[in-house]
Amino acid sequence: MNAGKKLIIVSNRLPCSFEKVNGNIRVEPASGGLITAMTSILRNKETIWIGWPGSDAEESEVAALIQGASPGNCRLVPVCLSSVEQAKFYHGFSNEILWPLFHDLQSRCNFAPCYWAIYRQVNKKYAMAVLQNADESDYVWVHDYHLLLMAEELRKLGVTRTLAYFHHIPFPSPDIFAKLPWRSEMLRAMLNFNVLGFQTSSDLRNFVRCLRRFASGDARINSEAKLLTLETNHGVVSAGAFPISIDFQEFSTRAASTGVTRMAAELRQNINVHHCVLGVDRLDYTKGIPERLRAFELLLDQSIELHRKVTLVQVVVPSREDIPKYQELKQEVERLVASINGRFTRDGWVPIHYVYRRLDRDELLAHYKAADIALVTPLKDGMNLVAKEFCVAQNGNEGVLILSECAGAAQQLKIGALLVNPNDLDGVASAIRRAMMFSRTERLCRMRTIRRSIARENVSAWAESFCNAVNSCAAEGHEPFACGVSA
Ligand code: UDP
Repeated sequence: MNAGKKLIIVSNRLPCSFEKVNGNIRVEPASGGLITAMTSILRNKETIWIGWPGSDAEESEVAALIQGASPGNCRLVPVCLSSVEQAKFYHGFSNEILWPLFHDLQSRCNFAPCYWAIYRQVNKKYAMAVLQNADESDYVWVHDYHLLLMAEELRKLGVTRTLAYFHHIPFPSPDIFAKLPWRSEMLRAMLNFNVLGFQTSSDLRNFVRCLRRFASGDARINSEAKLLTLETNHGVVSAGAFPISIDFQEFSTRAASTGVTRMAAELRQNINVHHCVLGVDRLDYTKGIPERLRAFELLLDQSIELHRKVTLVQVVVPSREDIPKYQELKQEVERLVASINGRFTRDGWVPIHYVYRRLDRDELLAHYKAADIALVTPLKDGMNLVAKEFCVAQNGNEGVLILSECAGAAQQLKIGALLVNPNDLDGVASAIRRAMMFSRTERLCRMRTIRRSIARENVSAWAESFCNAVNSCAAEGHEPFACGVSA
């Protein structure tokens, strides 16, 4: 590792949010898979994190508060967005086009032509922030779908250094990607990165198939190996699958702590049923929350013997609350919870405990630990770290993971988890019944298999393999890259 060089992380949002409440700015830690993974690897490396603070506060207002909120040895650099940029880059192109399209939900897309120019303009704004804060020798690691044009914008500004990109969400098949009016420009722009990382081999495969279909003249694909190389007009691009993960040791040690164990026992006592089923999701239509609630209702309809014996604890973390579609989803979830609880509640038993807030790390671990079954059923998900965190918190190896086959995590955890189709409500209800009937031996065996796999492929393995991919570019004349993996 070359200690003299800085790591520059660029993501749409900083790892904390700054809300203006009654004229005062409130700083909150943000949650999400990207932040969980990156903060785990930031301990040893001098890092700058460039991103939007998530409010319309001015740069000077944010600057004073920002340093106290930095994780590890990391300096936060805010990129402030105007209200038009927030509307057209963030809510528009990112959340009304790329997010639904890349999650195979094309009917939810709004392909408004005016979004594209602002998406490019904001990518240029982030590129300028990199230019102002990084030296030519620093490592630049760009994250996620908001910034797909950033390398192209940096190249236009004359930057020749190694640029790496990790795509946290799924990459769609060519038939879905075909709907994007700017599909070829988007792919061509991505080829300005030196390394492109995807969550799974099927995302990588989809990207390559899209290249063949929509940008065939722009890259010669040299191999279908784990790390493939693409020859382009400006040089060689490496692309690979790097499944993101969590810090196994940190999560498992904290889950075993006295505080978390006590909190888990209290939760369990309050719920007071034989089987505790847990769902934890950001408020998002890709997470399949209404479908899950309907599957749980079906279970209660089909299995009267489970009444008073099973409770679903559903944690929903507020997200994108200013977008009407997300407000509608919240109302739908709350209507369903009320209706199911109204139908089935009896003295001393409420079938669904609904929690609408972000839990801190210890509270979250206590929920994982208190649960017998995790119900992780996104309609589509890049990876889903909640699935991994639940398993790592199961120090007794007794919990069962029911996992959507449409989550990236399913590729890694399919041997120990019970895989379900999240749209098959009957199948999900049956999986819950099956999980409840597993013998202790079966539960232990499945959970041990999963935990071993997560321990092996934890977040430092993810970061290391990504860095190795970047370093493999060095042979082609690029400088080596190191990402600050903790010792
Ligand atoms: N999380 C949290 N508090 C909560 C619920 C979730 O901090 O109350 C974190 C959780 O630890 C996980 C992340 O949010 O690391 C969610 O990541 P995931 O990949 O499951 O989904 P994403 O939100 O990134 O789509």
